[in-house]
Amino acid sequence: MHAMTPVKLLSRTAACLLVLSTQSQSQTQSPSQAGSQAPAIPTQEQLANDNNLFLAMARKALKWEEPDEPVRIVGPVYFVGTKGLGCFLFATSEGLVLMNTGMPSSGPMIADSIRKLGFRPEDIKLMINGHAHVDHAGAFAYFKEQFGAPLAVMREDVAAMESGDKNDFKYADDFVYPAAKVDRILRDGDVIRMGDVRLTAYLTPGHTRGATTWIADIVVDGKPYLVAFPDGAGFNPGYRVARNPSYPGITDDYRRTHHQLEMLKPDIWLAQHNEYYDLAGKRKRAETEGVNAWIDPEGYRQFIAGKKRAFEDEVDLEMGVEKVAAEKGTK
Ligand SMILES: [Zn+2]
Repeated sequence: MHAMTPVKLLSRTAACLLVLSTQSQSQTQSPSQAGSQAPAIPTQEQLANDNNLFLAMARKALKWEEPDEPVRIVGPVYFVGTKGLGCFLFATSEGLVLMNTGMPSSGPMIADSIRKLGFRPEDIKLMINGHAHVDHAGAFAYFKEQFGAPLAVMREDVAAMESGDKNDFKYADDFVYPAAKVDRILRDGDVIRMGDVRLTAYLTPGHTRGATTWIADIVVDGKPYLVAFPDGAGFNPGYRVARNPSYPGITDDYRRTHHQLEMLKPDIWLAQHNEYYDLAGKRKRAETEGVNAWIDPEGYRQFIAGKKRAFEDEVDLEMGVEKVAAEKGTK
């Protein structure tokens, strides 16, 4: 059994869920309450082996299904997601593009957010996705059914999307969602131009086989902005990224993805999970600082570096390598 220091545990992507749930307990409960009411925190191993436990913990601790206020980020880019999950709207001169739809229950919430901003879900001309897991792809079927919006998906995630993720290498049969027919199949580097917005899709596999990083090129008041939506770099509890890999080639996929993400130099970055890019903090600062609050190239760089480090630590762990240098660094 490999004993991990709390810092080392923290450094693993998978542990962020546990850290968050521990924090929220300590913030809302006094020490005496915490002793009697705090639910047992599952171990890493339990989360790795029990998909449903992982899902139940994550959806609650990370507020995946709680409504949130929509907000304009920059120019045509708006946040329309839930408290925990990043869903985004591009309001172009030729119609709306919706990125991500959260959990299966989130469809009406997102539609409401779109209306609150003064747009009509009926005007969605295209839907796109980060990766085909239940917390981002859950309500595409709802939007197709209600508003007839077509869906574009990276080729390697099409089977997942069209089966409700029944073919997932980790979550098949556990994290299913209403299947959504794909109308346009994307390849690495494909560009979608709609009005004044240019969206580029990069295949960044690892987290799923077809995980897609999106880059939006926009110009606001004569100033160009590169907005990145990085995806694919994280691994969940129970993923095997090196030894007995979750799928053949996953190690190389992750490393290529990290490299590709490092090459990007966005001005603004947003993500599928709001805690990654500090939606709450940035939107608060934006009330006084405007768009400058969202400009965060260094935050992006650190985020990718953290994902890469966590991954390489995981590889070492699976391969049984003791990282003497890393141990020193964390004590
Ligand atoms: Zn996922």
